[in-house]
Amino acid sequence: MSAAHENVKVRYQQIAYRKAQQVEETRQNAYAKVPELAGLETELLQVNLDILQSGINKRLDRTALKTRRDALTKEIAAKLTQNGFAADALIPKAVCAICGDTGVAPNGGRCACYDRYLLEARIKDSGLPEYSGSFETFDAGVFSDEKGKEKVSQRQYMQTLKERCEKYAAAAFEDGEKNLILMGSAGTGKSFLAQAVVTRALQNGQIAMYTTAGRLFKDFYNHRLGENVDLERYEDVPLLAIDDLGTEIMTKNVTVEYFYNLISARETMGKATVIATNLTPEDFVSRYGDRIYSRLFSKISAKYLIPAGYPDIRKN
Ligand SMILES: [Zn+2]
Repeated sequence: MSAAHENVKVRYQQIAYRKAQQVEETRQNAYAKVPELAGLETELLQVNLDILQSGINKRLDRTALKTRRDALTKEIAAKLTQNGFAADALIPKAVCAICGDTGVAPNGGRCACYDRYLLEARIKDSGLPEYSGSFETFDAGVFSDEKGKEKVSQRQYMQTLKERCEKYAAAAFEDGEKNLILMGSAGTGKSFLAQAVVTRALQNGQIAMYTTAGRLFKDFYNHRLGENVDLERYEDVPLLAIDDLGTEIMTKNVTVEYFYNLISARETMGKATVIATNLTPEDFVSRYGDRIYSRLFSKISAKYLIPAGYPDIRKN
C-alpha cells in the first residue's frame, strides 16, 4: 500500500476518534444535567449485547429484548430533547453519510470521500506549495491583452501554452512527449503551469512530485557530503517538476554531475520531467553543459520559450 493510501487509512481513524471524542463530551454534559441517562444507556448497551447473544443462548427472549431496546431508545431520546439536547446527540454522526466513514460505498466500491482524501494526501506528499497552480484556476485575464512588440498578446500566448501543458499532462504517462520545458523570465506564469501539470497528474491518480531547484540541489549537495538523503524518490517518481531551475547555488562536482545522473536515469526509465526556468537555451548550455542540454532539449521534449517582451505580472 502506498504512503498516500496509508494516510487515508489514518484519516478515517482520526475521524472515528474525533467523532467518539465529540460524543463523549456531549455525554458528560448530558449525564451532568440528566443523571438517570447513565443508567438508561448502560441498560441499552446490555440489551444490545443480549440481542447479539440471543442467537446462541436460547434462554434470552429476542422479541422481548428488541421491544425493551426500542423503549429504551425512545426514553433516552425523550430525556435528551426535554433537556435541550438533540435526540441523537449521543450517537456518533458520520462525516460522510454515504459510507459512514468507512470509505466503502454501498455498492462495495470506493466511496467518493476516499478518493477525495487520497487526492489530498497525494498533494500533501507531492511537495506542492499550499496555494499551487491548477488548470482549473488558471486565469488568462491576469495577462495583458496588448500585443506590444510580440506577434501575439501575452494573454493569447499564455492561453495557448496552458492548453499545451494540459495536453502534455494528459499524454506524458502514455506515449506523449516525456519532458516539458518552460523557459521565460520571472513572473510569466511558468511556475503556475508546472504546478498545474503536477496537480492534474495527481487528480488522475498518478504519482507526481514538485520541487524547486533550490531544494533539489540542496539534497544533491547534502548527499555529496555523505548525509542520508533519499535521492531515489527523485529518480523513481513517474512525474517530477523542477521549478526555478537556474536559481540554485552552483557547486563544483555536484550540480552538473548529479543533475546529469538524475536526468539520464529518468530518461532511461521513460519518466516524465517538467522544468521551469528563467534561463534561455544559451544560458542553459553555459551553466549545465552540452551533455545535459542535449539530453533535455531532445525530440522527446516539448519546449516553450515565453517571449522576452512580456512583462512580469507580479509587478502590476
Ligand atoms: Zn464516504
